[in-house]
Amino acid sequence: MAITEFRADFPILKTKINDEPLIYLDNAATTQKPQAVIDAISAYYTADNANVHRGVYTLAARATAQYEAVRDQVAAFIHAPQRESIVFTRSTTDSLNLVAQTYGEQVVQAGDEIVVTAMEHHSNLVPWQQLALRKQAKLSVIQLQPDGQLDLASARQLISDKTVLVAVAHSSNVLGVTNPIKVLAQVAHQHGAIIVVDGAQTVAHQPVDVQALDADFYAFSGHKIYGPTGVGVLYGKLSLLQTLTPAQFGGEMISDVTWERTEFAPIPQRFEAGTPNISGVIGLGAALTYLQQIGFAAIQAQEQALTEALLNGLLAQSAVTVYGPQSVAQHGPVVAFNVAGIHPHDLATGLDLGGVEVRAGHHCAQPLMQLLQVPATVRASVAFYNTTTEIDHFLTTLQAVKEFFQR
Ligand code: PMP
Repeated sequence: MAITEFRADFPILKTKINDEPLIYLDNAATTQKPQAVIDAISAYYTADNANVHRGVYTLAARATAQYEAVRDQVAAFIHAPQRESIVFTRSTTDSLNLVAQTYGEQVVQAGDEIVVTAMEHHSNLVPWQQLALRKQAKLSVIQLQPDGQLDLASARQLISDKTVLVAVAHSSNVLGVTNPIKVLAQVAHQHGAIIVVDGAQTVAHQPVDVQALDADFYAFSGHKIYGPTGVGVLYGKLSLLQTLTPAQFGGEMISDVTWERTEFAPIPQRFEAGTPNISGVIGLGAALTYLQQIGFAAIQAQEQALTEALLNGLLAQSAVTVYGPQSVAQHGPVVAFNVAGIHPHDLATGLDLGGVEVRAGHHCAQPLMQLLQVPATVRASVAFYNTTTEIDHFLTTLQAVKEFFQR
């Protein structure tokens, strides 16, 4: 089946915006959902809804089986060695905060160093910054090369025996680069530090193998991988998860409670306090099944073609500055840019009038914006269901918007 045929699985893509066909180019913010995901959520509420892990009755067993089957699916998807390494959370943000509130609280001490990169999303910066402030630890920032790629020399210089934790995005949500996690993990481990990886912008675009990367923790969100909002994943090495005291307490995460003490449930349940997002997890499972039907080979080929058309089309236009690498060989499916003399919000509003949905703003990476010396950028980001015709239309609309403002 040609990859273009999968587009028909996404009902929203038939929508019109301002009387124009929708051209959705904000996939880095959230992806659209295929009918299979919408149907799985609806089927769960229609036929299988019950709380998980509690009831002995048939419906509860059915809901639990479906929920727990997704844990196996996620483990296989990111090549985790065992299902117990997969914790369901609300989002990437929630996953990273979980690590900060457990590992961070337990391990980081005054004088220790936490290392992040200059391209981090606030989700993988603010939890570490706040932890460092609480603990009187030092937060250091790995710098970037002029083209926006991570400066490994800076990484090697900053990561030292004082470093306890390195937090890094697998792929940037602004610069379109993918970072060399395996190398960074090696450097971190040589110094006795752990590496926490934010995979929010990676998992939908390339196969991820947490063991090959040697990531200690790996976080991602369901909604950026064609699944629903409100569900996320935290992978953790079992040896690390076993050392952590949960940060949230309540139902589902206990095995025995008296007035005086509580014995926690085994891993990973002890990190999933309260009723989880059952339909969200089931929807995520449907999204992974759907993605696997298409296969990453086809997804990557299509997204590379789209990125090439997008990047080269933007670079060919006058007054356009593209942030991050200028060559498609180093560029993932996210392209941030500005047009001289036109505010990014005006550009995005003009594009919206033509049915083109792109993001304008700081992309939750304000320190990176400071480094780029801009208050904001426009960002176009593709998914496999986009077409080269859409990219052409985006580029023509952009040209028209520019001409309108330059008149
Ligand atoms: N990290 C990166 C790199 C992201 O792009 C995003 C989402 N924009 C996040 C973290 C946060 O994801 P969520 O809002 O789903 O928690």
